[in-house]
Amino acid sequence: MIVNTTVQREVKKAINQAEPEKSLTLKDISPQWYERLFGKERPLPVPLSPIWFKWYFELDSPSKCIIGEAHGYTSSYEQTCKECDRLGWSFGKSFILRSRTRLEDDVNEFVHHWNTKHLR
Ligand SMILES: [Zn+2]
Repeated sequence: MIVNTTVQREVKKAINQAEPEKSLTLKDISPQWYERLFGKERPLPVPLSPIWFKWYFELDSPSKCIIGEAHGYTSSYEQTCKECDRLGWSFGKSFILRSRTRLEDDVNEFVHHWNTKHLR
C-alpha cells in the first residue's frame, strides 16, 4: 500500500512536470524594474526630481535598463538582439513622455518577445 501511494505520487509529479510551462511576466523577467514601475499603485516620478534622474540614467544605460536587467545586467543584447535593443530605447522614450499607455505597450511587446525568443 505504501509503495503504491508513493508510486502514485511520483506519477502525479511527472504529469505536473510535463505540463507546458507558464509564460513569464515582467515580474519574473525584470523584477526590480517591475517593482519600480508597476509594483505599487504610485505615479511615475515627477520629471527632473532626483528619482526621475536616477531612473532616467538607468533606462538610458543598456546594462541597467529593463532589458539589461532581463539579460542579467549586461548590454550584450545590443549586439545579439535587435528587438531587445529597439525595445530598450522605446522604454526610455515612454518614460520621458511619462506615458503609462506606452509603457504598458512596451511591456507587452517585451514580455511576448522574451517568451518567444529568449525563454529557452
Ligand atoms: Zn531579444
